[in-house]
Amino acid sequence: MIELVPLRCIRCETPVPAEGDEMAWVCSQCGQGLLLIEQHGLESLDINYSKAVPPGEKGQPYWIARGSVDLIREVHQSWKSSRDGEADRLWGQKRQFIIPAFSTSLDELLKLSTFLFSNPPDLIEGPATPFEAVTLSPQDLSPLIEYIILAVEAGRSDDIKTISVSVEVEVPSLWILPDFRRFL
Ligand SMILES: [Zn+2]
Repeated sequence: MIELVPLRCIRCETPVPAEGDEMAWVCSQCGQGLLLIEQHGLESLDINYSKAVPPGEKGQPYWIARGSVDLIREVHQSWKSSRDGEADRLWGQKRQFIIPAFSTSLDELLKLSTFLFSNPPDLIEGPATPFEAVTLSPQDLSPLIEYIILAVEAGRSDDIKTISVSVEVEVPSLWILPDFRRFL
């Protein structure tokens, strides 16, 4: 039998009105950021609000994480020299990934993430705003980031024969950003 334990704020014990697949909240009583970690319960979460969210609009939550990318690719011989250099420049250092934490389709997640990879927004903090529900757990980020790297590599449109990727993701932070879907 599954026993449902109501979630309570770790600072003031106010019940958290957790719905369905939500993963993170701001306590309505004390403003504490809260993150649900599987098997552990609620933990403290810092929430960063971008100044770029227009007043009166709901922001959209994103996980922002740096990652070390390990990419092994094999291309057809004719491309080899120039394109390998490009890949090294792109992935030879830690890169920042900006992943939608709200509910969206995999297609839109991929489009937003690759757009924001190539066009990273200025991260300047502003006042707290309401934001859409956080439904993506930071524990699920690594496979999505690997998928995004593959999409970026495919977008460089050379003649890849085989490719394998693994990524080591640092602890992400949650940012509330404006709606970027109009750029897609
Ligand atoms: Zn509280």
